[in-house]
Amino acid sequence: MSRLAQLPARVDLLVIGGGITGAGIFREAARAGVSVLLVEARDYASGTSSWSSKLVHGGLRYLKTGEWRLTAESVRERERLLREAPDLVQSLDFVMPLYRGIKPGKTTMRLGLWLYDRFSSGGAHSRFLPAAEASAAQPGLRAENLLGAMRYQDARTDDCRLVWRLIEQGQRDGGLALNYVVAEQLLQAQGRVCGATLRDAETGESREIAAGLVINAAGVWADALPGQPAGAPRLRPLRGSHLVFPQARLPLPQAVGWLHPRDQRPVFAYPWQGATLLGTTDLDHREELWNPRMQRAEADYLLEALDWLLPGAGLGLGDALSSYAGVRPVVDDGADKPSAASRESAQWASPGYIGVTGGKLTTFRVTARQALRAAAQQLPALRLAADAAALFDRALSESPAELPDLAQIGERVGEQVFHLDDLLLRRSRAGLVLPEGAEALIEPALAACRAQLAWDDQRCAAEAGRYREYWRRQHDPRGLG
Ligand SMILES: Cc1cc2nc3c(=O)[nH]c(=O)nc-3n(C[C@H](O)[C@H](O)[C@H](O)COP(=O)(O)OP(=O)(O)OC[C@H]3O[C@@H](n4cnc5c(N)ncnc54)[C@H](O)[C@@H]3O)c2cc1C
Repeated sequence: MSRLAQLPARVDLLVIGGGITGAGIFREAARAGVSVLLVEARDYASGTSSWSSKLVHGGLRYLKTGEWRLTAESVRERERLLREAPDLVQSLDFVMPLYRGIKPGKTTMRLGLWLYDRFSSGGAHSRFLPAAEASAAQPGLRAENLLGAMRYQDARTDDCRLVWRLIEQGQRDGGLALNYVVAEQLLQAQGRVCGATLRDAETGESREIAAGLVINAAGVWADALPGQPAGAPRLRPLRGSHLVFPQARLPLPQAVGWLHPRDQRPVFAYPWQGATLLGTTDLDHREELWNPRMQRAEADYLLEALDWLLPGAGLGLGDALSSYAGVRPVVDDGADKPSAASRESAQWASPGYIGVTGGKLTTFRVTARQALRAAAQQLPALRLAADAAALFDRALSESPAELPDLAQIGERVGEQVFHLDDLLLRRSRAGLVLPEGAEALIEPALAACRAQLAWDDQRCAAEAGRYREYWRRQHDPRGLG
């Protein structure tokens, strides 16, 4: 029987979108005493949630815009994820060099980080390093006018693994989740949303499903979901891009954050899964939303920042392993500059329907619980677990990724993989951090899919072709001109 034919005629809750927001809602709903189905149009996390900076952070920069609540909440969630998911979220030391004549100065940074520390239960993590210590902590640092650096702590994750773990946990608790299934049209009866038409993107099959409540968690696509009631906020899609370098070409003992000399926006570089990430940009994205690409001007902007901070590094685009771009689902609050637009989440509701978008990876749990508290008003059977309830069963934990390898890929083939890119770009991040899009792992990965998913020769050839073409178009830094 097909995947759609196996679904029940009705579920209590239908969640649309399998990024971090939908996955967080799905995880909490699955243990809230209601039946829940999540549908994701492509692969889990393939929208924005796989292309973030992968920082689970308090958002130091939000202090500057007075968003204290967002910072305090983000710090609390960071602490909690560090405690509850140590295999998925690890603490990350940052140094932030400070230069004479460049704002923020030492006093402002000290005050900001003092507050940051206060929000965290773990006490003081930050401290000022005088110039000599700063240069020792981060070799190669621009020496001219160096005052010193602030050292502080945040955290990093693998955004895709975090999404997958929430899906896996929700399924374990009885929820149903389907990737490559599109919600094509919401259904309404007597002024109430009562279900949706679903289409299996792999087979083309369609069917309707009834739902007591529908939650639209479709990220940057949330305002365009067909058939939804009026009331969605206007979104302002903001693109952010990253370059990934081999650690040997950009070895960093810890993360380094600084202000771009051109426009004083914060940028950063840090070690991640055996490579080094350099990011990020923040621009209005006016192109189509599905496959955002880094533009050459963004790469030049990031390389200029790096060259300013580490003048001896001598890195060019030719050194990069890959590039990637994502589009932030930010609510249009009329801010003049993209970076000034608030990162708070937005929620709207009508009978039978709740929409939720915006927000951060870091605060997914808060966003999910807010959406489900609103859902409970329309679905009285929904009983949210206590706020203190652990997010994950310990049995699901895995070893933190150092550098993706074949063993890791082989283990993850069974995680609802439909295409080679699901495996090489999301279940594992090999395609981003290994040379040539992990070309050396393509054949062994196909062999694992042949054994576990019964792919035949024709399917393997088609998948290899699809993956190589996709990687070249989306992630090959040489393609940036
Ligand atoms: C460059 C960049 C850097 C960032 N860095 C950080 C960071 O370091 N830390 C942090 O906390 N946050 C960060 N963020 C923010 C964070 O990544 C996003 O807020 C978050 O991933 C958004 O998740 P989402 O689930 O709302 O959207 P998405 O991940 O886009 O999920 C929505 C999903 O809905 C699916 N969908 C759409 N339409 C349909 C339909 N009709 N039927 C079924 N499915 C559908 C899409 O395929 C998509 O997968 C960053 C964002 C960007 C772009």
